[in-house]
This record gives sequence, C-alpha cells and structure tokens, in this order.
Amino acid sequence: MSFNNLGLSAPLLKAVKEQGYSEPTPIQKQAIPVILDRKDILAGAQTGTGKTAGFTLPMLELLSRSKHTKAKAHHVRALILTPTRELAAQVAESVEVYGKHLPFKSCVIFGGVKINPQIVKLRKGMDIVIATPGRLLDHMNQKTIDLSKVDFLILDEADRMLDMGFINDIRKILEVLPKQKQTLLFSATYSDEIKKLSDRLLNSPTLIEVARRNTASETVKQAIYPVDKVRKRELLTHLIKEGKWKQVLVFSRTKHGANRLAGQLETDGISAVAIHGNKSQNARTKALADFKKGEVRVLVATDIAARGIDIDQLPHVVNYELPNVSEDYVHRIGRTGRAGNEGEAISLVCVDENEYLANIEKLIKKDIPKVWLKGFKPDPSIKAEPINQGGGGRGRGGNSRNRPRNKPSQGGSTSRGNSNRRR
Ligand code: AMP
Repeated sequence: MSFNNLGLSAPLLKAVKEQGYSEPTPIQKQAIPVILDRKDILAGAQTGTGKTAGFTLPMLELLSRSKHTKAKAHHVRALILTPTRELAAQVAESVEVYGKHLPFKSCVIFGGVKINPQIVKLRKGMDIVIATPGRLLDHMNQKTIDLSKVDFLILDEADRMLDMGFINDIRKILEVLPKQKQTLLFSATYSDEIKKLSDRLLNSPTLIEVARRNTASETVKQAIYPVDKVRKRELLTHLIKEGKWKQVLVFSRTKHGANRLAGQLETDGISAVAIHGNKSQNARTKALADFKKGEVRVLVATDIAARGIDIDQLPHVVNYELPNVSEDYVHRIGRTGRAGNEGEAISLVCVDENEYLANIEKLIKKDIPKVWLKGFKPDPSIKAEPINQGGGGRGRGGNSRNRPRNKPSQGGSTSRGNSNRRR
C-alpha cells in the first residue's frame, strides 16, 4: 500500500515523499483513514512506529479541508498535548516538516523557557499548538490562549502523562475545550487509568493497536563488552575511535556521571555533550540539535533526559552503565534501529552489574552475545561491589511539573513498581 491511497492531498504527499518514506507504517495505514473519517481513536503505539506522522498527516489534511482555514487571534484549532518538552519539540518539528507545503501556523509551548515569546505568538492565533500540560495551564490562567475553538485534541503518550502526575492538569484543560471535537489518544500501554480517561474523553473510539515493537530482538544488534569499571572510559574511546563512529548516544546512570564522561571524552579528543535534568531547556535543545546535525559526536544522556528523543538513523547506542530498571534497557536500545534501519547497542558491563544483566536477559528472553575484547578483559580478581545509585539518574527533567504530584521528588530512587512504565 502506498501513501497515495490513504486520502491525503498533494501538499502532504509531497512532504512525505521529500522525507523519503516509500510506504506507510502499520499505524499510519490503520490510523490515517479512520482519522480522516472524523472518528475518535484510541491507539496503542510506541515511539518508533511512525505514530507522529500517523496523527499529524490526517490532522493537517482535515485542517486544510475545513472551511475555516485560518485561526483567528488567540484561537487554536488543533491542540497536541505531550508529556515532555523534548517530545513536544519533536512533534512540533514533525508538524512543520509534514505541513511544509500548507499555510498553517504552529507553535510549541513548554516550560523552562520564557513565556513572553509564546504569548506574542499565541496572540495572532495558531492553527496548531503543541504543548506540555503545565505551561499550557499557565497560558490558560493568564488568558493568553483561547481553546474554545479547538477542533482536534491529540494526547500523545497519554500513559506517560498520567504516570508523570499530569491528570489534574489534563482535567482542567479538558474543561475549557469544546464538547464537539475529534480526539485522538495515543498510549503505549492500556492501564485502568488510560481506560478511564478514554471512556471519559472519547466518543465511540476506533481501537487501533499495532504490534509492540520488539526493539530488543529485531533490528538492533546487541553486544555486551565485559570490562573493569575503571577501564570503561578507555574502552569507550577505543570503540568510538576504532569504529570511526560519528554519532553515538551514550547512557549514563547519573547526571554527574554524564557530565564527567562528556568531559573525559572531550579530553580524549572526541566531541561530546551531556544532557540531563539539571541543564536548562535551552542547553538541552542546543545539545540535541548539535548532535542531530553531526556537530557533536557523542551525546551522553540519563534515561529521563533521553526519553522520547528521536534521531533518524542513529547507528550506535552505548550503555556506559546498565540501567537498574530492566525496562529502561529496552527503551535505551530502542533509540537505534528505528523504522527498519540497522542499529547497534553495546553495553559496557563490569562485574558489579552482572545481576542487572541477568535481569535484562530475563526480560528480553534471550542471552546477549558477549565480546571479550583483547586488552580489555576484566581482571578476575576484582569482586563485585554494590552499585551506588548516585542520586540523580532518576531526576525527572529538573522540572517540578515533571514530578509525580503525589510523591516527593525521588532523586535517586531505584524502584518504580509501576507497570505503566513498561513501554
Ligand atoms: P515516531 O514513532 O513518530 O516517533 O516515528 C519514528 C521514526 O520513523 C521517525 O524518525 C520518522 O521520521 C520515521 N517514519 C515515520 N513514518 C515513516 C515511514 N512511513 N517510512 C519510514 N520512516 C518513517
């Protein structure tokens, strides 16, 4: 099936072609015609399935078909809510890319940056607004946005929004939206909370579910490099230089560790930058942009900072330390091998981490091949020591809004105990 049969008009087909997509992904095949039919949908789809184009393309199509083709001052026609700033920025980028040949105005609204430039943009009216719930509420309170004319509401990664404690914010936002609208809810998991939210929000929704992307086994080539802890940095530098890697995302368990490693790699002559919750939003956005453009070779990130980061054709992911939560391993390696591209995920594992490794292999139901690199074989006399969680790897983006409301900030907490997080 090609994009031509989905009911999209020429400006959108042109944009899709320019992106080099030859055929729609399963979520796009299923969702686009249903959305164009003006139905609400509840879609189970993870990042990496092409879900963003799955809702953006038909949304743009319907906006262009509508007789009210322009947003009036302060008004918003389509509202996309996302849990994190990174995801908001990425969705906004997709809206621009796919809407390139259409005359729509869009803007992204999230916290951590000045509110005034956002107010100026909103004043003119926006066809599409992509927002995180917290900052959107600020605008609602200041009456700098009018959501009474919203025709489309899209909740992206709804499970994560609930997981991050945004339910009250979402409720307040829903209250000011018109009853008559089309609503699309995307979630990677179906918990009772999601069910409740969808029952309340959606009108006879069409259920769409695409196969869970089994990132751990399909396109990602995985390997474990056993190595002593003190030699990890040397091994990483060796792998990057020998392999002539140009773009590698490295996961660190703590914010402090991420900073230190980026600095050390720079000392080794490899351009590197760290992103984590202690950095300002502008610094994070810039780091990500430089990395995407290939100006920085290594991006060192903590799990939370890296959530939702979408980099086309990212060839290498390295776990400098294994995550203590096994599911995070699957998220991490899912950053590579996107949309059918080959990817490689390498984990540098010291003796302390063997238990983490065993848990991960149990979760993904397979043994990950080990590579014993000459010159880096671990010293067998070194015994395992307990791992210091380092307080910070679990930081939630440094934004108080990003913390679960019902719990204090968790700092270095190690347990999640919440099945919603399994995405
Ligand atoms: P998403 O699930 O929306 O985060 O998208 C994951 C990645 O797939 C993005 O980098 C998109 O650019 C890419 N993508 C989306 N649709 C297609 C398609 N039909 N063919 C190839 N790549 C696609």
